[in-house]
Formats: sequence, structure tokens, C-alpha cells
Amino acid sequence: MREARDSDGAMPSESQGCPGPGATGGSAAPCEGQGPHRREVLLSLLKLPCSLAVLSAFGGAPAAEEAKQEAYDSSAHYYGMGIQVDHCIGCGRCAEACKTENDVPKVPFFFRTWIERYTVYEDGETLVDSPEGGIGGFKPQESERRVFRSFFVPKLCNHCDNPPCVQVCPVGATFKSRDGVVLVDRDYCIGCRYCIQACPYGARYLDPRTKTADKCTFCYHRITKGLLPACVEVCPTQARVFGEVHSAASPLRRLMRTSTLQVLKPYLNTEPKVFYSQLDREVR
Ligand code: SF4
Ligand code: SF4
Repeated sequence: MREARDSDGAMPSESQGCPGPGATGGSAAPCEGQGPHRREVLLSLLKLPCSLAVLSAFGGAPAAEEAKQEAYDSSAHYYGMGIQVDHCIGCGRCAEACKTENDVPKVPFFFRTWIERYTVYEDGETLVDSPEGGIGGFKPQESERRVFRSFFVPKLCNHCDNPPCVQVCPVGATFKSRDGVVLVDRDYCIGCRYCIQACPYGARYLDPRTKTADKCTFCYHRITKGLLPACVEVCPTQARVFGEVHSAASPLRRLMRTSTLQVLKPYLNTEPKVFYSQLDREVR
């Protein structure tokens, strides 16, 4: 498993003058003359019997292309997010802002973050829905059954400390940066979908334009400039709290001190860094 590849916080594609996957208004296309060619070579290597050995010889390349970004020191940070479930009103602004900020395909089924509505009926049944990922909000349920309780749960990549998506990637395109953010290098992704299958949270998709894996980056292009992720910035109720996991002064740390936090599917030992307060036991 490859960890902490990014020694200085810059994604290789950014360092090469290409728009990062999350660049505002940036193109989702890979860098001309680099990504496609490299991917084709990697794909052809995968067909060889000794593919993994060859790839490991070839695949040190991402590390070799680590970039220098003077202003940001990835070793000085360790990021996470808090979600205050009882604050979320299901307005969907976060999912909409994310799509715009990160050039996520506008069609349904492609989301870096989305909101689920949990409706618990008095007969004990629970319905979960997420129309359009929650963008535009939720219409009232039309069922005549009596609702016991209902609430919204924003979801995204959990930036797991022990990420199965990283473990299965055969070319090291998915990696965990030193600041704890799990990233995808599109120049190296061969679109094999292993990571998509390995993620137990459904947080990844294959971008239909680039044929590469994609997911939440905590708006890496923003946080490395000291800005908040777009979803956090637009949330009108502060349901989302972003910050340093270890710094006592961070908003996330304050939330940790004042609330009992839980993670999704803790029994999987993925060690998520998205922490939920007031998480109902119905949430999966
Ligand atoms: Fe990987 Fe899924 Fe964990 Fe995100 S939530 S780090 S995509 S396993
Ligand atoms: Fe919930 Fe905030 Fe997202 Fe609205 S913007 S759906 S309140 S997390």
C-alpha cells in the first residue's frame, strides 16, 4: 500500500500546469500528451503476465513527479470533517455547490457529496431516498403511513485512514496524502474500477468524460489555499464542520470535545475521518 505520496500537498497534475480535478471551472480532461498516453501504456502493461512487477518498476513514476508547492506544507495538516446530523435541513446546497466547484457531471448518479433522507415509519420500516442527490431539496413524502421521525444525512468520501480503495489500486493512482486526504491522480488512473468496488461507502464513480475514478477531495484545491471546502462554505446551518483533526483550536476539534461523534460502518476498520454527531442507529 502506498501512503503519504504527496510530500508537499500539490497533486502532480496541478504541478504540471494542468487543471486539477477540482479546479473551479476547470476542464475534466486529462493533460494533453501525458495522461492518455501514460494510461494506455499502463493498460497494456496490465495485460502482460508479469504486469504487477512491471508496473511497480514503471509505477514509481507518480512519486517521481511529486511537485513542489512552496506555500503549503502537507505534513503540517491532518484534515477531517464533522457532520452535525441534527443541523442538516436537507436543502441540498452543499451537493449543488460541490458539483459546480468540482466540475462533477451534471447528470444524476455522479456525486462527490449527496444527502440521504431517512424516514422512519411508526410500523418500524425505514425508507432512504436521495432524489438528485438532494440537490434542490426534498419534497414531502406522499405516503399515508405515519412517520415516526425523519432526518437528513450528508454523505461523501470518508477519507479513511485505512482506505481499501488505496489498497486495491494496481497502479498507485489512488493514494493518501500526508495531510490525510485520499486523492486520485487522473494521469495514472487506468479506469479499472477496482477502487469503486472496494469502497464500502459508495463514494466513488467513474467520470464518463475521462474514464477515470473520481470522488470528494475535501476541495483540495481550496483547502491547500486556506479556504473551506465548497460544501462547508455554503451550508446555511453549519451542519458541516471542516478542520484539523489534531489541532485543539480547530472547529472540528471543538465539535469533538462537545459532542459524541460516530463514523459510518466502524466495524469495517476503515477508520473514517468524517465524523457524525447525533447519528441515528438506522443510518447505514
Ligand atoms: Fe476510499 Fe471510500 Fe474510504 Fe473514500 S470512503 S477513502 S473512496 S474507501
Ligand atoms: Fe444539510 Fe447544510 Fe447540505 Fe443544506 S447545505 S443539505 S443544511 S449539510
